[in-house]
Amino acid sequence: MEPLNRPAVIVADMLVDFVTGALANPPSHECIEPIARLLTAARERGWPVCYANDAHLPGDMEEALWGPHALAGTPGAQVIPELAPQQGDFQFPKRWYSGFHETGLEMYLKQCGIKTVILTGQHAHICVQHTAGDAFIGGFRVVLADDGISAFTPEDKAAGMAYMQTMYGAVVGTVDEILAAPLATAA
Ligand code: ZN
Repeated sequence: MEPLNRPAVIVADMLVDFVTGALANPPSHECIEPIARLLTAARERGWPVCYANDAHLPGDMEEALWGPHALAGTPGAQVIPELAPQQGDFQFPKRWYSGFHETGLEMYLKQCGIKTVILTGQHAHICVQHTAGDAFIGGFRVVLADDGISAFTPEDKAAGMAYMQTMYGAVVGTVDEILAAPLATAA
């Protein structure tokens, strides 16, 4: 795998409701430290840090499907404190699974000349997968930070990761591998 040429990092749904709240997901706890390490390095390197976070409105179809979660403006829709956005980061509130759907994220990345996105967050087979799909369609190379992505079960994570590799050509590496230069991950 060739070195990454100024990628952007996308953090999906590391929100209170998705970590400890309405849709609490214990496996996501293990992703917090690797994501934090990736974000620190990204900011130091000048890689854009973009948050793609659920911010639902009453009546959103996802609310009917999953029950109330991450309603815009509520504490549950806040990024967990350990990964709180910092000055210079960007937030792209979403109302669907994909971080690209009607959020302005694609236009922003293209304005920055970004060609590669590193995905983190949850869930591997839902929002991360949909975000990866739209990244692929938008012409971005997709890299998956394996230790920074979770799902409800190991099976769900494995299924999502495999789908993204097969369908979108996504490359998987640990945060350490992604931050290494050149990347040691076999493409
Ligand atoms: Zn949602």
